Amino acid sequence: MAYVIADPCVGVKDAACVDACPVDCIHPKKDSDKFAKEELLYIDPVECIDCGACVPVCPVSAIFALDDLPEKWSEFAGKNAAYFGR
Ligand code: SF4
Repeated sequence: MAYVIADPCVGVKDAACVDACPVDCIHPKKDSDKFAKEELLYIDPVECIDCGACVPVCPVSAIFALDDLPEKWSEFAGKNAAYFGR
């Protein structure tokens, strides 16, 4: 697992990260039926290449490398993976 989207994204879903990601591994997309149903966006832990490009574009600083994920948001690693059935 590489990068993880955490609590600050909840209810925000700015999605700037989706456009920044070179491997298109952040979902759901704004034009997806799933976008309205999900409270935040998720990073596919298998597809993510650990490049960090999504981090600076997030307006609420919601994205962390797994090693830097604050303990209080540790559950979000599993939440990101679960969205993709990982
Ligand atoms: Fe995409 Fe890179 Fe962010 Fe991984 S670290 S989600 S590959 S932009």
